[in-house]
Amino acid sequence: MARALSRLLFLWRPPAHLLRRRPLNPSTKPLSTRAKALASGHSLILPGDDRSPPSFPSRRAAHLPPPDYGCGGSSGTIAAIVTSLGGGPAAVGIVRLSGTDAVAVVARVFRPARKEPELWKPRSHFVEYGFALDGDGSVIDEVLVVPMLAPRSYTREDVVELQCHGNDLCLRRVLRACLEAGARLADPGEFTLRAFLNGRLDLAQAENVSRLISAKSAAAADSALAGIQGGFSTLVKSLRSRCIELLTEIEARLDFEDEMPPLDPMVLLNKINSMRQEVQDALDTANYDKLLQSGLQIAIIGRPNVGKSSLLNAWSKSERAIVTEIAGTTRDVVEANVTIHGIPVTLLDTAGIRQTDDIVEKIGVERSEAAALGADMVIMTISAVDGWTEDDTKLIEHVMLDKKSPGSAIPMVLVINKVDCSPFVAGEQFEKFSGIFRKHVHTCAVTGKGISELEKAVIEIRGLEPIPSGGRRWTVNQRQLEQLMRTQEAFTRLESSISEQLPLDFWTIDLREAALALATISGEDISEEVLSNIFSKFCIGK
Ligand code: GDP
Repeated sequence: MARALSRLLFLWRPPAHLLRRRPLNPSTKPLSTRAKALASGHSLILPGDDRSPPSFPSRRAAHLPPPDYGCGGSSGTIAAIVTSLGGGPAAVGIVRLSGTDAVAVVARVFRPARKEPELWKPRSHFVEYGFALDGDGSVIDEVLVVPMLAPRSYTREDVVELQCHGNDLCLRRVLRACLEAGARLADPGEFTLRAFLNGRLDLAQAENVSRLISAKSAAAADSALAGIQGGFSTLVKSLRSRCIELLTEIEARLDFEDEMPPLDPMVLLNKINSMRQEVQDALDTANYDKLLQSGLQIAIIGRPNVGKSSLLNAWSKSERAIVTEIAGTTRDVVEANVTIHGIPVTLLDTAGIRQTDDIVEKIGVERSEAAALGADMVIMTISAVDGWTEDDTKLIEHVMLDKKSPGSAIPMVLVINKVDCSPFVAGEQFEKFSGIFRKHVHTCAVTGKGISELEKAVIEIRGLEPIPSGGRRWTVNQRQLEQLMRTQEAFTRLESSISEQLPLDFWTIDLREAALALATISGEDISEEVLSNIFSKFCIGK
């Protein structure tokens, strides 16, 4: 009852006679306008539905004030060096311009290298060779100019790229000439912001552009590419239009109660259930996304001389760590990188954890303990030759004491190494502790035997099996995850409203909420603050 009352507070619908004047056709309305109506609690059938969409910058910005594009105003022409700077000389670097004056600006800076040079007349998507000039008319570089005229460009504005020599000096001089000729320096992410505002990309795709640029593994790049190509955006679009369709059906029954057949709750529940499943599938990719972005840290711990450094070397197929028979050789944390199932993994070889009076080794041991505590997973290594020893017990008790929640927070794997030398005999002490390890793996670090089993153990523990190897699927980021959860919660409430046979008005509230959350993902309903937060993380030139 309390729930019903609290919901009633949110209910407001215009009188039915007002609503009846306009037939509803959801597909023909600017979605952001509709979403705004949803947010304000108004009916989806809006007065003024026939008003023309705003002229700047696009349907997407209908609810946003025009962005502040600085001196050039909303139609300002922006320029930036879009290739990397400061990374040493490269053969080619690019200065890009976008905006209504892009062609005019380049015409002031560029002189075609024809026998009888005339004023440059761009032909879209055709390359022309010539010279970049400064304000005095002196040649500052030899360039290729590539015009991509609106709307066939990244930003859907006139875009012109000047391919210069890759030296930072050449690039900066050409950029300066463009700025002096009337362009202004682009803000971070401003090219992509314009692409978004002009409907070339939705917000989820734009976010993936940024991820692709900063991807640190092939799997992360593949996943960002899949996002840019629109798999996730198509899902969000489809979910949202299904929500609006349902909302339309319910609204119609509210308005024309007597003239329409009643809704079948079972059919409705089935539709919601299938949408819930699709949202859940998308939510399931969030864990993988986190791993793709930040990777995993795995600390290899154990007594001195059990083969930790050898294991790290065998796993990373490198000679990263020094291997000797002398206990206490590894005195600091040594890192090596591997990729498991497309996830970047940092292996941390730690100093053998033991009591020692050697000051340097002591610091190494402390660092090892800290690495074990900070890692996402711990591999405790023992030697099959020695079996489980008193020192192993002390070490694990020490680590567990540090971790405070034994065997839970950080998953642990037991590696029984040196199985080529001796079979492992599990003693009484071992039985006491064996249960705290999620997996036991037998290895020979000298030959690399058991490493693939170790990788399988990591994949299983982190629940990576359902993810296709290579990360060719899109994944959802934190912002999208939050909105998907909001959608899912709205569906849950809607299901109970239907099951409890609450009035139809109640059903519409949750459907509106779901539609709004989905519009936030695609950027059809988004605050300027969130937008600038997203785009400020881009680099200049993207
Ligand atoms: P750590 O101190 O735990 O890092 O151990 P190391 O990796 O430095 O190895 C100590 C010694 O054990 C070295 O002489 C290695 O060659 C040897 N060793 C390591 N793993 C194996 C293994 O699986 N089989 C055999 N036979 N020797 C190993």
